[in-house]
Amino acid sequence: MSSAIEPLLNAIAASPFRVAPDAEEQLAAVIAGHRVTLEFGDEPTLFAKFVPSRAVVRLGTPFLEVLWAASYSFIVIFDEYEQANKRKDEYFHVGASHRTAIAYSLHRQLLEAHIAKIRIPWPLPELSPVRFPAPDTDGHVANELFLTAVSWLIHHEIAHARLDHGELETVESVLQESDADRAATDWVCRDTTESGPLFKRALGIACANLHLLAYDLQQNRTRWTTHPPTYERLLVNLDRIGLEDNHKVYAFGFVLLEILLAHHGIGVTVDRTVSFHEMLANACFTVRDLGAA
Ligand SMILES: [Zn+2]
Repeated sequence: MSSAIEPLLNAIAASPFRVAPDAEEQLAAVIAGHRVTLEFGDEPTLFAKFVPSRAVVRLGTPFLEVLWAASYSFIVIFDEYEQANKRKDEYFHVGASHRTAIAYSLHRQLLEAHIAKIRIPWPLPELSPVRFPAPDTDGHVANELFLTAVSWLIHHEIAHARLDHGELETVESVLQESDADRAATDWVCRDTTESGPLFKRALGIACANLHLLAYDLQQNRTRWTTHPPTYERLLVNLDRIGLEDNHKVYAFGFVLLEILLAHHGIGVTVDRTVSFHEMLANACFTVRDLGAA
């Protein structure tokens, strides 16, 4: 079955190179040295996976469709949230503007259908991935964020090859996953200290991890056996970048996590006088405590 993400498949394959252009040659050497290939599959159970026996990084197209919709919705929601903040609005409603309402609805519909393993027609044809959207449009920004998020996910899988990880289903696996996360974050954020590019890469990492967290919240998942918990990955991976506590990416993470939680009727009690980092950490602890309840 064809996928709405098809126009972006080449860009997805190029994304691990594009994200850190100074390291293109090094990446090519890693990929050649470990004979890593990339493969897309359309089975609903496939997210992102490294198959050690074949050295293949496999990505699921339904998973990528949801990630694109998540990127789109996260970026417009955060933009509208910032505008509301500037106006000093007392409340922010995702449904208040058409722009955020349709983006949010697209993400929820695709996420819920994917979890239910149902293939639905793309819910909003006017809001679908295209390879070359007009500059300065939401579709353009969404593509950039999506490709950065995807590049981090692919780098996580390539790290399994680089670090010679095998198939494991134990405590070791959690350690390997943390190592792969760290390696991916380091690669994606390498060779730049400039605030613009670093912010974009940090947003991509936040987006990938929020995307994974959205699945867990939707499925009421409170136990993790193969990977570290997603709320922990979100925080640890952002902290790995080494940004200051009031960096905007932490505000992004907090706002989006608060909205994901609100969808499930979970409120976050947060002291808004603390740093953005602490606000995000508190929201992550709220997710952790769901499991303890
Ligand atoms: Zn992994």
